[in-house]
Amino acid sequence: MRLLLLIVFVLWLSPSLQEKDFSRLRDKMVKEQIVRRGISDPSTLSSLRKVQRHLFVPDDLIDYSYDDRPLPIGFGQTISQPYIVAYMTEIIKPRPDYIVLEIGTGSGYQAAVLSGIVKEVYSIEIIDSLGNQAKNRLDKLNYKNVHVRSGDGYHGWKEKAPFDAIVVTAAAEHIPPPLISQLKENGRMIIPVGSPFMTQQLMLVEKRKGRIRTSSMMPVQFVPFKRPQ
Ligand code: SAH
Repeated sequence: MRLLLLIVFVLWLSPSLQEKDFSRLRDKMVKEQIVRRGISDPSTLSSLRKVQRHLFVPDDLIDYSYDDRPLPIGFGQTISQPYIVAYMTEIIKPRPDYIVLEIGTGSGYQAAVLSGIVKEVYSIEIIDSLGNQAKNRLDKLNYKNVHVRSGDGYHGWKEKAPFDAIVVTAAAEHIPPPLISQLKENGRMIIPVGSPFMTQQLMLVEKRKGRIRTSSMMPVQFVPFKRPQ
């Protein structure tokens, strides 16, 4: 009887122990993968410490959720490496009053990281099932200021434009002109540009006095930006 009670007690305790473990893994991830590589924006770091990345990966990969790498999320797509998510978040200089557009919702993780920092996040996903999954996940986790839509992100989200910042998480052959026009004056867009399945350049696009300035930030490897057939 006592043994049975003990087992019930341990089972009852285990979920909270697990969450504590994940929280410890997150702190370690931020310290070793993010801060050590030079990310210092306090709002970006605090959001990465909070968002439960293990709830954004498939169940069988949960043990790897805080590893220093991207992970498959089905349909040939990936959740980006934590450092890349941190980099793309910091580089847009997110602020509490910002309206941000994301192209490529995927798991919803990047959107969740932005959600805690900015006012509204609009995110577009071209694969319906992935978009629906991410929408359900974000609703369940109570990310109320993230709005997910299915469709081709090439055209942006005209009804909600202009945006203070745009984050594109799939590699495009060129910067889609509609995204440039939906960027606010003084806005920033971060986008991987280059051929699919090769190394691409992460480009920072800034709009100042109506002019566009682009800078190559670093070589990266993203899944391709798809276009409808
Ligand atoms: N931000 C995601 C990373 C997803 S990988 C995360 O945090 O998990 C890139 C995603 O972009 C994939 O889900 C892919 O289906 C999507 N994608 C590719 N081309 C797209 C397009 N034209 N419009 C919208 N989404 C696109």
